[in-house]
Amino acid sequence: MNKAIESWIREHEADMVESLCGLVRIPAISPLDGGQGELAKAEWAEGLIERLGLPRPERYDAIDPKARGGVRPNLIVKIPGRTPLTTWFVSHLDVVPEGDRALWETDPFEPFVKDGRVYGRGSNDNGQELIASLYAAAAYRRLGILPETQIGLAFVADEELGSVFGITHLLEKGVFGKDDLVVVPDGGNDKGDFIEVAEKSVLWIQFTIEGKQVHASRPDLGNNACRAANFFSVELDEALHKVFPETDPLFEPSCSTFEPTRRFANVANVNTIPGRETLAFDCRILPQVRLDEVESVIRDVQSKIERKTGVKIGSENVQRAEAAPVTPSDSPVVSRIRNSVRRIYGFEPKVGGVGGGTCAAHFRKMGIPAVVWAQESDTAHMPNEFAVIEHMLNEALVFADMAGAE
Ligand SMILES: [Zn+2]
Repeated sequence: MNKAIESWIREHEADMVESLCGLVRIPAISPLDGGQGELAKAEWAEGLIERLGLPRPERYDAIDPKARGGVRPNLIVKIPGRTPLTTWFVSHLDVVPEGDRALWETDPFEPFVKDGRVYGRGSNDNGQELIASLYAAAAYRRLGILPETQIGLAFVADEELGSVFGITHLLEKGVFGKDDLVVVPDGGNDKGDFIEVAEKSVLWIQFTIEGKQVHASRPDLGNNACRAANFFSVELDEALHKVFPETDPLFEPSCSTFEPTRRFANVANVNTIPGRETLAFDCRILPQVRLDEVESVIRDVQSKIERKTGVKIGSENVQRAEAAPVTPSDSPVVSRIRNSVRRIYGFEPKVGGVGGGTCAAHFRKMGIPAVVWAQESDTAHMPNEFAVIEHMLNEALVFADMAGAE
């Protein structure tokens, strides 16, 4: 990559750490989680953007009367390039609450720097990447070098609770174009060798089996919901695996998964035959299989067991999300980030899919290919969340390299 850009980023390590600390100090928690939203943090970020000499950000406020200032702010910064193409780095301002404070060794909103790490809520998710992308853009600006593509930074609200006031708002406003290169650096591993291009559909479904409760010595007078639930669970498990055997090497595991998971408590003693059972399945379905096909198989098994045992089986979706279209592995954004990872780290990254539900899905559903990549430790949402400073620096180099400087 361009040596001047690389040196500039490396020389600004301390500055990047300080900026990340500044972000951590301002909680940006959704009003639905008892917070005030992102306004204070967005205003602080606007100041930082100005100090770094970047163009004044455009604000796209989504109205939310529950938040401070009545808005959920989204910031867009664009710096010009030599071509009309834009490389976007989309990170989020909001953080999840700290959870049980007793599990934290330091104040979650007072950043603590130790052993090459920055501790604090939001340091990893998603402050590390917000700062990395910001300094990648600043390097070009400060050195007066035009990148090959324009660089777009989007710092969005509301990622943790559905993105209605965040990325969805920006997509509705037409901020992004079909040919834009979109990177959502909000997921990855601590090696930095995984580029996510696809996700499975998610179906979490809960079943209630209604029989008739009686004393265990008189099964003839009742209808054992436990037995019916056992039949049903085994039958459904087998049917789903049999009807949907497809595999796709993009994913690990490469097949759809249908797992019986939660089983609710039924009766409190051994000598009662339960009249009601509740159980759940977690299904992660390959994008080439339609969710309504899966649901039709589920309905068939429900009626079969109802006929066989005389119970009633009701169902309720706990979560249902149809997978977005896959970002093709040969699309320009995948090739570019793959090349940049290869150049910065010296290894070949894997391109693959995950079990479900990322922010990139919002882009993919609009027909904009997007990738998820980051180098990060697995501490998001956890007590003592931390960002590794070296990861943040590497990410800044990859982002700068992607936008290109010959
Ligand atoms: Zn995140």
